[in-house]
This record gives sequence, C-alpha cells and structure tokens, in this order.
Amino acid sequence: MDNLNDAKPTVMKFGGTSVKDAEAFVRVAAIVKSERENSPVVVTSAMSKFTDALLQAFELAKKGDSETAFESLSPHFERHIEVAQELTNETQQKDFQIELDFAKKELNDLLMRTSRRSLPLSMLKDAIVSYGEQLSSRLLAEVLKAKGLNARQMDARRLIVTDDEYGAAHPIWDETEKLVRLELQPLITADEIPILGGFIAASRGGETTVLGRGGSDYSAALVGAALRAREIQIWTDVTGVLTCDPRICPEARTLKTLSYEEAAELAYFGAKVLHPKTIKPAVDYKIPVRVCNSHQPNEKGTMILAETNIVPNTIKSIAHKTGITILRISSARMLGAFGFMSALFQIFERYRVVIDVISTSEVSVALTLDNTDSLEQVVKELERLGDVETEHENAVVCVVGEGLRATSGLASKIFSTIEDIPISLISHGASSVNITFVIKEDKVAEAIKKLHSAFFKENRKKT
Ligand code: ADP
Ligand code: ASP
Ligand code: MG
Repeated sequence: MDNLNDAKPTVMKFGGTSVKDAEAFVRVAAIVKSERENSPVVVTSAMSKFTDALLQAFELAKKGDSETAFESLSPHFERHIEVAQELTNETQQKDFQIELDFAKKELNDLLMRTSRRSLPLSMLKDAIVSYGEQLSSRLLAEVLKAKGLNARQMDARRLIVTDDEYGAAHPIWDETEKLVRLELQPLITADEIPILGGFIAASRGGETTVLGRGGSDYSAALVGAALRAREIQIWTDVTGVLTCDPRICPEARTLKTLSYEEAAELAYFGAKVLHPKTIKPAVDYKIPVRVCNSHQPNEKGTMILAETNIVPNTIKSIAHKTGITILRISSARMLGAFGFMSALFQIFERYRVVIDVISTSEVSVALTLDNTDSLEQVVKELERLGDVETEHENAVVCVVGEGLRATSGLASKIFSTIEDIPISLISHGASSVNITFVIKEDKVAEAIKKLHSAFFKENRKKT
C-alpha cells in the first residue's frame, strides 16, 4: 500500500437505517471497502430506533420507573448481539458482550439516578442517549475487522469538545480541530480506519454531551473539516437530496447538485436528510459533501458544492417543517417608534428561543417558533409590549433554488399554484435563494403535492 501520509481522507457517515441490522452492516462494510484507497474515516449513528428508545427510557425513569425503563431497552441490546453473532468471530463476540455488559450496568445506574434525580437531568439525558453511538461504533469496528479491514473504534467524546448546553451542545472549533488531527492523523497515516460514533461529544469538563437530534451529520462535517477531507459522504436510505420529502411525493427526484446555500436552507427548514449545521464546517473549508444511498451505492446521489449553475425560472426543492407555532404581536406603540424590535428580540434572547420566520407591518409583528418549551413565559413578557395571539399547528414550507435570485415570476407562480390555501406569513429576502411561507399543518401535504407537480413535471431535465 502507498504511503498515505499526505492522503486526504474521505469521511463516510452512516445514518441509523444504514446500520439497522446485520444485512445493513454487511452493506456498510462493502461500501467502506470500496473506498479503501481513499483513507476512509467512518462516522456512524446509533442503530435505527435505539436513540428514540433511549430517550423514552429516560422519560420513564424521570417518572420514577427506572426498572421498566431499563427493561424496555433489552430488545435493542439483543439487536446488537444478533449482529455480532452473525458477522464476527467468537473472540470478538465475547469482547463485544463484555463491552455491552458494561454499557448495560452503566445505563441501569444512570436510569436509577434519573428517577432519584441525583444529578442534573439534562446531564443524565445526554449520558444515557450517548450509548446508541457508543455501541454502534464499537460493533461496526468489530464487523469491519471481521471483514478484513484494519478498523479501530475511537471515542468521539475524546475528539469533539463542546460547551455544556446539554441536548444540543455547540462545538468549540479550535480545540476540536486540534484533537481530531492529533488522534486521527496517526491512524490514517498507519493505514488504519478510525470508526467514530456521531452525535456524541464531551464538554471541557469531560461530561458527555450531544449535538442535537440528527447530529451525526454534524460530527462528520466537523471531522471532515478538521482533516481537510477530500469529500464528506452522508450515507442514508434515499438516493441523495430529493425534490421534496419522498414520504409526501413518492415521485420526488434526486438532485444532481445543490449549492451550499440551497442545502443549508433545505436542511434548516425540515429536509431531514441533512442536519442543518452540517454544511457550515464543510463550507468553511470548501469540502464537497455527497449524499448517497447505502442500499444503492453505485448511484451518484447529490453533490453539494460551493456553487452550482443557476438555471433561471427553476426551483430545486421544497422542504417543510410541521409543529410550528405563530405568535402575532400588535401594538400601536410600534408606529414610528424605535427600540420596539430590540425590546421584542431581547425577550426571545433571554429565553433562548429561536425564531424561524418573521414578518412585520406597521403595527404588528408575526413570527414562528418550532420550540415551545418557554412559550408561556415568553408570551407573558410579550404582553407588556402589546396584544399577543398564539396559533398552533402550523407548518413552514420553504421553496429553494438559486434560480429564485432575481426571478420575480416564480413567486407569483408559487402562490397561484396554491391560491386556495390560506397563507399566514411570507418571507423572501432580496438576494435570497428561498421563498418561505406558513400555512396550516393539515394543508401541508396538499400544498407540497401541488407545488411539486407544478414545478417538477415541466422542468424534468433542468435540475
Ligand atoms: P439517517 O438516519 O440516514 O440520518 P434521516 O432519517 O435523518 O436518515 O434522513 C433521511 C430521510 O429524510 C429520508 O428517508 C426521507 O424520508 C427524509 N427526507 C425529507 N426530505 C427529504 C429530501 N428533500 N430529500 C431526501 N430525503 C428527505
Ligand atoms: N442517533 C442520533 C439521532 O437519532 C443522531 C443521528 O442519528 O444523527 O438523532
Ligand atoms: Mg439524519
């Protein structure tokens, strides 16, 4: 084998469905093997449904029933054992069993602490949910070794350093970059394949943290950026980024290319295929991101590049996010007064509530939130500024495409296509690559189907 000293690695991230059972692990092994010459660095999610199960166990324990909580996890422990039995040798199986027994003991202890509330709950929650990736990465390393690859599990919590905002911690870039290089570069040079759990990290104090739901994509991007990878590959269960959510329109098509900006808008507004923050580290170092299908590894998927060709009068994709709450604040004080907006934003800042879409008129502001954890307190404070109306069960629809820049006719086509669906808010920045609007949740499937057939039937070859 050539000296890989200066090789730029390929970071390959496998999502939960790509490691859901023994068959899926076999597919992953073949995909990693095919990338062997490009110094792969593997990032894996938890086996599908395990993260949800761990979160449910945490909720049960919080209510006091840590025993049932622990028992609810046993089918998932079994799934790991089945993969080990099917795909690794006896010594490996024994080693994995020891690792799993440790994990079970620790999880049991953490769940008991949760019911007794003997540590801060947010800290316990992250520690519990991290076992999904801790176990999948160990199992994947064993499977790859059994398939003749020189794989080695690395604990991502030693590489990715974050603040201590549990649940969705923020990476500290300089420290993460240094550690990733220090720990992974020697392995790459020695022709080993590092296997990391995505999503999990640790604070400076060494406590386990996580990067937010779907955060393994983000881990892959951070590792890829730190290593200046030649490419970051996001392996999932669909062929790339599609023209819309395939669960709404099964006829959705794969996009060949997407610009970073388009991809970021889509991810932010609900295209689950990419974690919203994935794009940022890749953009900073101009690293191409490819989204591919682990069931059909020979299809090219979608390349996300710094820039793509602008095709006027076309859109690329339609994303949506449900469970959105609208707040309307109206006040005569707004008329000609300065300082009103700043007072308004300060309230959201104080409660760390993120606003997605906002639109203002002379006497009112309407905005959307997808996290209503602190809604009650926020509304109470907003009432000091004016009258507040709250409207639940809305959805944000986001139409994305570089072609929207300076193509005014598209907006009218979008809105005439769904003219019989009432729209509450619209947002479209001057040089923006998206038009975003808010409708009732129960209208979202109808709106997307209409838009999809209006825009993608006639532009079949342009994307
Ligand atoms: P993974 O477990 O691999 O991270 P996710 O479930 O997070 O996978 O993301 C993949 C899913 O995203 C697909 O199965 C699909 O249902 C959904 N999805 C929503 N919008 C899109 C889109 N525009 N393109 C591709 N997939 C999408
Ligand atoms: N396992 C985590 C989740 O389900 C992270 C990920 O899969 O990206 O959210
Ligand atoms: Mg995902």
